[in-house]
Amino acid sequence: MGAFDWFWKAMGAQGDRNDKRSRGLVDDAEARAEELSGLDDATLATLARQTVDDGAITDKATFLGILSVASTRTLGMRPFTVQLQAVLRLLEGDVIQMATGEGKTLVGAMAATGFALTGRRVHVITVNDYLAGRDAEWMAPLVEFFGLGVGSITEDKSADQRREVYRRDIVYGPVNEIGFDHLRDNQITHRDQAVQAPAEVALVDEADSVLVDEALVPLVLAGSEPGMRATGQITAVVAHLEEDTHYTVDDDRRNVFLTDEGAHAVEEALGLDSLYSDDNIATVLVRVNLALHARALLIRDVHYLVDEGRVQLIDASRGRVADLQRWPDGLQAAVEAKEGLAVSDGGRILDQITLQALMRRYPMLCGMTGTAVEATDQLSQFYGLGVSVIERNNPLARFDEEDRVYATMKEKNAALIREIVLIHETGQPVLVGTHDVAESEDLAAALQERGIEVNVLNAKNDAEEARIVAEAGDVGRVTVSTQMAGRGTDIRLGGADERDRAEVAELGGLAVIGTARHRTSRLDNQLRGRAGRQGDPGLSLFFVSLEDDVVASGGAGEEISARPDADGRIDSRRIRDFVAHCQRVTEGQLLEIHSQTWKYGQLLADQRVIIDERRADLLDTDKAWRELARRAPERAGELADLDPAVREQAAREIMLFHLDHEWSEHLGLMDDVRESIHLRAIARETPIDEFHRIAVREFKELAQRAVDKAVETFTRVTIDAEGVHLTEQDLARPSATWTYMVSDNPLSGSGNSVISGIGNIFR
Ligand code: ADP
Repeated sequence: MGAFDWFWKAMGAQGDRNDKRSRGLVDDAEARAEELSGLDDATLATLARQTVDDGAITDKATFLGILSVASTRTLGMRPFTVQLQAVLRLLEGDVIQMATGEGKTLVGAMAATGFALTGRRVHVITVNDYLAGRDAEWMAPLVEFFGLGVGSITEDKSADQRREVYRRDIVYGPVNEIGFDHLRDNQITHRDQAVQAPAEVALVDEADSVLVDEALVPLVLAGSEPGMRATGQITAVVAHLEEDTHYTVDDDRRNVFLTDEGAHAVEEALGLDSLYSDDNIATVLVRVNLALHARALLIRDVHYLVDEGRVQLIDASRGRVADLQRWPDGLQAAVEAKEGLAVSDGGRILDQITLQALMRRYPMLCGMTGTAVEATDQLSQFYGLGVSVIERNNPLARFDEEDRVYATMKEKNAALIREIVLIHETGQPVLVGTHDVAESEDLAAALQERGIEVNVLNAKNDAEEARIVAEAGDVGRVTVSTQMAGRGTDIRLGGADERDRAEVAELGGLAVIGTARHRTSRLDNQLRGRAGRQGDPGLSLFFVSLEDDVVASGGAGEEISARPDADGRIDSRRIRDFVAHCQRVTEGQLLEIHSQTWKYGQLLADQRVIIDERRADLLDTDKAWRELARRAPERAGELADLDPAVREQAAREIMLFHLDHEWSEHLGLMDDVRESIHLRAIARETPIDEFHRIAVREFKELAQRAVDKAVETFTRVTIDAEGVHLTEQDLARPSATWTYMVSDNPLSGSGNSVISGIGNIFR
């Protein structure tokens, strides 16, 4: 298992101990549930509160027992023993691993209710809007049983509605909505304007995808300010370059490099002496690089779609259109230019935060996922979280076949189609997991040619997701999907209402077929997990070719001798081990990129915490007034007759305006530095050290500069009974703001290698 062997063992040992202890407790809880089941609702609710003292649960068995009775009574679901175990582990702050279909929704709601009963507000972080709404509504009777409030934050809710929901005890919401609200709350100038209320606990569904895969995705709040860079001319020049002559692409198609010949060609076309002169590096060369990235590495229908004149990113980890995502500005513009579209305005970045920094704001974090074990070291390293594996309620009856390995892609695809046809002829439902939109469409077309009707689930038809997933277990159904991770509904045998359940079970349940191994085994397991729900029969099987991305980049340069049969199949243990080895290599590469990107983000995250604290101080105290009055006593004297509250608020608005403005400038500057750092740093320091040096230097002066500017404004601006008139000094906040996620996420799995290339620029 490699370098983390010892670590996994250590975690496992701890897991065992926890397991034994919690099993005893859960046995007691079930006994208590029996005893308590005769009591009426009100008595039980009171009793639950009596088992809590000063925020701590004094009698866990009784507490769990009551939750169990409440669930049975309000939702008609009597929690399984394993579910109670899971609730216990969550309450202790672990990430639990629980397979698909084992009932995580109920587990999460019971744990959230438990936390709320100890007086802590909980945010339940869901995969998407739809699930936030569904789960909050579904679980409400359980929560309300105890006199607690629950609600959901969804995109369609107004600020007032959100404000009301955030004050409830349990709040369901997708991570981006909660993050965007946090960012907007960091622009307010009076506490009353805040939408969010403090929460102590975050309980994260699909914890590995939010906390690990997407951890470094920044959520951005931008304000209107025109002036995007035009890239048309550069795009045109780059369009004429040829691969291998003018530029080279590395093996895993993650980085693109201009050759000397390419550099000359660009210089000539643009009439420049040298791309690498100090004048040109930060401007022209950066843009040439971005245009080259867009040209050589970003592929339409794999990484993005063009729809209604807009570039729409495909979220590789979900295989769907990522409505709210943009690439970093320069790259977004480069892709738009490449497609001949109007270059959109990225606006001015007002504030940004990564999901990781957002999650670390909660004093307590816990989570649930079907695939936590493989993310154990990241969860521990980045959040100090432990993983608890919860056993299945019914033993797994899925058969996981060994990989079928073929020499070439062509032979693999032929075999894949033969296998699907074969299984389909028996009537067994088949779910095929592909890696991108283009592949899903090609495969669907090939199957349709053979007269097989196919349901396709990919970024182009998200809206039908719920229906397609619900039908995926029908007799004779063939479903071709891109990434299944985060598609939050489970597949029931014999249809959503399980009408043909017995027949499908007889046929062997759902057959899941992977068209290639993913970049991490965790993603493979997410796909496998779609079959074999709650002890259902099922099958999982992956097809692999030695030409697959994972094998090519993970096994870079390694020669392997193998003797394929007539169909191109190589049936040997050694070759399967080699494939597994390649996957471990790519996992290691991803980890390395992650930690590199993390290094860039961490300093800014730390700086943001400082800004956050300073803001809170200015909002909640009269410090702004006191500081300005001390620095400009004369001006303060002139305002002596004003209502102190008006005066203080005026000072607050002035100070906050300049603090926010300087922070926004800082983010903009560091963004530029990051894009050009690898070019600038050549022959000087390592890029990361250079980046840190600049970030620290600039930040040091930020606070002081903000105060100096505030003093200057304070002495000049009109302040009267109505407050401060900032607009008169052209110091207005942006009239419109919008939010988006930057997609440069190196870990979001397959088909996303290019975007990780952006991360790689930093190396
Ligand atoms: P997961 O999120 O773990 O994949 P879900 O929360 O969607 O699973 O639950 C899967 C199904 O199991 C749901 O239809 C739910 O109603 C059912 N379920 C969960 N727990 C119980 C229980 N204790 N008793 C009966 N049905 C349950």
